[in-house]
Amino acid sequence: MLDQSNELAAWDRDHFFHPSTHMGTHARGESPTRIMAGGEGVTVWDNNGKKSIDAFAGLYCVNVGYGRQKIADAIAAQAMNLAYYHAYVGHGTEASITLAKMIIDRAPEGMSRVYFGLSGSDANETNIKLIWYYNNVLGRPEKKKIISRWRGYHGSGVMTGSLTGLDLFHNAFDLPRAPILHTEAPYYFRRANRSMSEGQFSQHCADKLEEMILAEGPETVAAFIGEPILGTGGIVPPPAGYWEKIQAVLKKYDVLLVADEVVTGFGRLGTMFGSEHYGIKPDLITIAKGLTSAYAPLSGVIVADKMWQVLVQGSDKLGSLGHGWTYSAHPICVAAGVANLELIDEMDLVTNARETGAYFRAELAKAVGGHKNVGDVRGDGMLAAVEFVSDKDDRVFFDASLKIGTQVATALAASGVIGRAMPQGDILGFAPPLCLTREEADTIVARTADAVNSVF
Ligand code: PLP
Repeated sequence: MLDQSNELAAWDRDHFFHPSTHMGTHARGESPTRIMAGGEGVTVWDNNGKKSIDAFAGLYCVNVGYGRQKIADAIAAQAMNLAYYHAYVGHGTEASITLAKMIIDRAPEGMSRVYFGLSGSDANETNIKLIWYYNNVLGRPEKKKIISRWRGYHGSGVMTGSLTGLDLFHNAFDLPRAPILHTEAPYYFRRANRSMSEGQFSQHCADKLEEMILAEGPETVAAFIGEPILGTGGIVPPPAGYWEKIQAVLKKYDVLLVADEVVTGFGRLGTMFGSEHYGIKPDLITIAKGLTSAYAPLSGVIVADKMWQVLVQGSDKLGSLGHGWTYSAHPICVAAGVANLELIDEMDLVTNARETGAYFRAELAKAVGGHKNVGDVRGDGMLAAVEFVSDKDDRVFFDASLKIGTQVATALAASGVIGRAMPQGDILGFAPPLCLTREEADTIVARTADAVNSVF
């Protein structure tokens, strides 16, 4: 059992307002405080010395693994040399300029600029503002609505919380509904009629999108935002042909496409970007997490050159861009980013995500796919999920109050493997560091099978 009695745990319960945590059970000490103390490779340990394989890489972000000297050295050197200088009115550091160049060198064709922020949420706020600004510069003040998907996750800010299509993130916050709209989730397992093929379901999603655009008036719809593969909404790969069909609709109505690659950027799907993997041609790309492997907070918006040209016209008309963060391109964070991207190349982690990821998913499917309460084992690259059902043949889901996903994740954690009970539905998610080995994958799989068998 975890030590609930020590002084730190008491201070934690009394003073630390945790994100995404049940406030009551935590403050009353009914749910554990786990004080994390260290990490190396894919392993983390707490202050009681209990070790776990972190099969979710923190929050799908510690892509290079823990304890990488190269990144720690880059951070220390930058902190000593120049801990801070802003990036306003044309200021930069060697690391911020180098990182922008490294990102564009790795990004899909046609992208030319990077705007730096600190979190995926603030980067998506930047996206929304750039989209509105762009249409104002083009003299289309009506074209402002943004379409997201149910089950999409795009952040927890006021506008980005609205973009997020998960009830938990809307409940009781009075987030603005307009000008954000939500369309069908590309979630074949849950949303498709049983007689539909994946291709037919993709067509259905594209038809729903087109209906929405027509109902709203294409002259009012500015952009569509989506993660290449649904992440927090359940780790759901797109059904066959989905992105091709969606992009055809967007093109027809001159609607911009934002690829939210906060999870998929920098290797997670076995390609540098998820856009490359699924044939997506975005106008804007959101990046965060894997950009620094979370050694320091850093996000960015990658802007397509054709959009950039219009933004520049805006400045020529209106003056300087009225949008900036104090910590945009923070020197310590971008120094971590440069070292991190170098390390991803040196360790060949994109290839490992593809190859070891495929091995991990295949072994997971073999180990638990046949279980009577496992309805779906899915994923792509180094992302995987197991979805539980009460009746496999009729695809009946458990009552949410049973929290089956949480029960399995808790049993798994007790055995020393951290997966994640995804917030909506009984889904156990995995997003291990991209440096995972086959032996480590075998351990995760064996313990997952034990955890599943212990719950059912
Ligand atoms: N976009 C996606 C796809 C995400 O998964 C997340 C976070 O998980 C975000 C945006 C928000 O990022 P942050 O938590 O850094 O604000």
